Amino acid sequence: MNTIPFNIEKLIRDNIKGLKPYSSARDEYVSDGSEMTFLDANENPYENGVNRYPDPQQRSLKKVLATQKGVTVDNILLGNGSDEVLDLIFRAFCEPKQDTILTLPPTYGMYKVLANINNIEEHEVVLTKDFEPDVDAILAAVTNRTKLLFLCSPNNPTGNSFSDTAIEKLLTSFSGLVIIDEAYIDFSSKESWVTKINTYPNLIVTQTLSKAYGLAGIRLGLCYASKAIIAVLNKIKPPYNVNELTQQRALDRVLDVDRVQHEVAAILKEREVLVKALAAINFVTKIYSTDANFVLAVVDNATKRYDQLLAKGVVVRNRTTQPLCENTLRFTIGTPQENERLIAALQALE
Ligand SMILES: *Cc1c(COP(=O)(O)O)cnc(C)c1O
Repeated sequence: MNTIPFNIEKLIRDNIKGLKPYSSARDEYVSDGSEMTFLDANENPYENGVNRYPDPQQRSLKKVLATQKGVTVDNILLGNGSDEVLDLIFRAFCEPKQDTILTLPPTYGMYKVLANINNIEEHEVVLTKDFEPDVDAILAAVTNRTKLLFLCSPNNPTGNSFSDTAIEKLLTSFSGLVIIDEAYIDFSSKESWVTKINTYPNLIVTQTLSKAYGLAGIRLGLCYASKAIIAVLNKIKPPYNVNELTQQRALDRVLDVDRVQHEVAAILKEREVLVKALAAINFVTKIYSTDANFVLAVVDNATKRYDQLLAKGVVVRNRTTQPLCENTLRFTIGTPQENERLIAALQALE
């Protein structure tokens, strides 16, 4: 399968390899449901719903996710948003001032920010004109210090999913970790790479409840990978990184499959409406096809149109400074009413 040997031990930072994780009260005694008197964690004993520390391993939530995704509980790590999950990956595998990562702009800005925070050099290989990974250029940019390669698919802000062949080639030719950020996968007709985590030992798939699941406010990020990778990340995560309220709300929501699917279907329908309307706007010169809950479009003058829309009370994203994105605006799909407001505003612009 892999044309290159993969050895996770070679990727883990030395200080992390030898690390003994903090053992919290809830790690040392795991409730089996029987009636126990908990006097081990210095909590206030009076019940209010959240007076106890949350489950550090989020077992109830992971059990449901494991079933839904066809993986096992030890293939999953949860974090305070994908941002925390991505940060844990940096901290586990990238030695500050020595290791490097690869990103493929135009893409999600957090990879670079996290690299900077962790003092890791970030190298960039711009996507091709049709927003696909430039596989040869990427492989040519890899050095023996390149630890991570970030693929965002569907990609933000371009909206497209990367070709399976390109992703597969990168997975089999790069001996570091390949992170596929699937924040928008629930809007895509493509299959998730989660099903491939046991095929590719260097694959990490991240997802989030912030987009399709409508829970940006609770901060829950998901990470799927081999047991070996998840074990490393588990060792360094803060013990109670996913709070009790988040675990409860997330569990309710992931169990409410019908409602999530209905909302996603409504958003996809509205996406068609918006694309049609955009095509009829005279200063919109190109609309990129999208696999996500947003549309990237080229206009005559992005900054001017952005300001005009703001003045009409509609906030969109101006992506004009991103590589390959000159004069683009990114429109998130809202409710039918919100989209009508956007369309009316666009139609009224001079
Ligand atoms: C919105 C988004 C996320 C979400 O991050 P959270 O921290 O989980 O809210 C992750 N990746 C990409 C590419 C995104 O656009």
